[in-house]
Amino acid sequence: MKALSKLHPEPGIWLTDVEAPKPGVNDLLIKTRLTAICGTDIHIYNWDSWSQQTIPTPMVVGHEFVGEVVAVGEGVKSFKIGDRVSGEGHITCGHCRNCRAGRRHYCANTQGIGVNIPGAFGEYLTLPEENAFKIPEDISDEMASIFDPFGNAVHTTLSFDLTGEDVLITGAGPIGIMAAGIARHVGARHVVVTDINDHRLAMAETMGASRVVNVAKESLEDTMADLGMTEGFDVGLEMSGVPSAFQSMLTNMIHGGKIAMLGIPPDDMAIDWNQVIFKSLTIKGIYGREMFDTWHKMACLLQSGLDLSPVITHQFDVDEFQQGFDTMLSGQSGKVILKW
Ligand code: NAD
Ligand code: ZN
Repeated sequence: MKALSKLHPEPGIWLTDVEAPKPGVNDLLIKTRLTAICGTDIHIYNWDSWSQQTIPTPMVVGHEFVGEVVAVGEGVKSFKIGDRVSGEGHITCGHCRNCRAGRRHYCANTQGIGVNIPGAFGEYLTLPEENAFKIPEDISDEMASIFDPFGNAVHTTLSFDLTGEDVLITGAGPIGIMAAGIARHVGARHVVVTDINDHRLAMAETMGASRVVNVAKESLEDTMADLGMTEGFDVGLEMSGVPSAFQSMLTNMIHGGKIAMLGIPPDDMAIDWNQVIFKSLTIKGIYGREMFDTWHKMACLLQSGLDLSPVITHQFDVDEFQQGFDTMLSGQSGKVILKW
């Protein structure tokens, strides 16, 4: 089958021909319809130090997908041929304390498809039945193909009660842009989004941000004063991984404020702990999505009217994958989809 593979330990990604995977007893065989390019795929493409330590080569990469079940293993109970599915790319061990307690998102033995084991950028992929999610009929293939990052946004954004709260989102990447829409949808008051990229900030505004701040040119404090905010943000969603963004978030939180951290800092990150201690801040780390509460909420948010369509800015045929990666690399895009 056709697949996008990390063939060589160097920058780039290659369209190649590999053997189609075979489903195990409890697996679904899924014919891929659409896949989306994640920031993680860009790290892998660039072959940064994290990728060099993590990604085996050669390996089919990718983990954001929607497709159709075309075969099922003999142990599969709840899916049938023809079902339209996306799925959780974090394969958990099933026997650690957290897995056994139903907290699979805390499994310390998680393997990521397209990261540690073969992924979704192929004409077919296999996935354990328990990781698959049936897509309701009223949700489009395009939306379903971005459920993985949408799930990161939902898990982070709904970590704390946002109704009537003032929310700061640092980083208007695809996930930060979706978070702005979610925060607006669930009734936050001010939703302020920072970035250094005007193109992306404009998308955050479209998704319902009250104000966007290009911190390379404007001050967050001026925007807060303008909004009449005197005490700081109630909730912070760190979605950039940039130390200076997190530091400015800490400075501008209300006493007793709550922060959910999704962005991955490149290295050790020093902060002023006095901001955390004397403001009595709560900081929660976020990894992945909750299995499967987040997936349920994603479908329900869309069904209750959340419109994420502005986040998808480009679609290419898989043969034009290089254009897709170049578009992502340019920073002048939201989600980029590849059609299989
Ligand atoms: P992205 O890299 O597209 O977005 C990050 C954004 O931060 C960019 O738009 C960038 O311009 C912006 N930025 C740069 N400097 C800034 C500054 N000083 N202030 C504010 N913003 C600034 O990433 P994404 O795909 O939207 O993901 C967001 C973050 O979440 C990334 O760090 C990603 O690695 C991380 N992530 C974490 C998990 C997890 O499970 N914890 C899952 C997915 C992604
Ligand atoms: Zn486990």
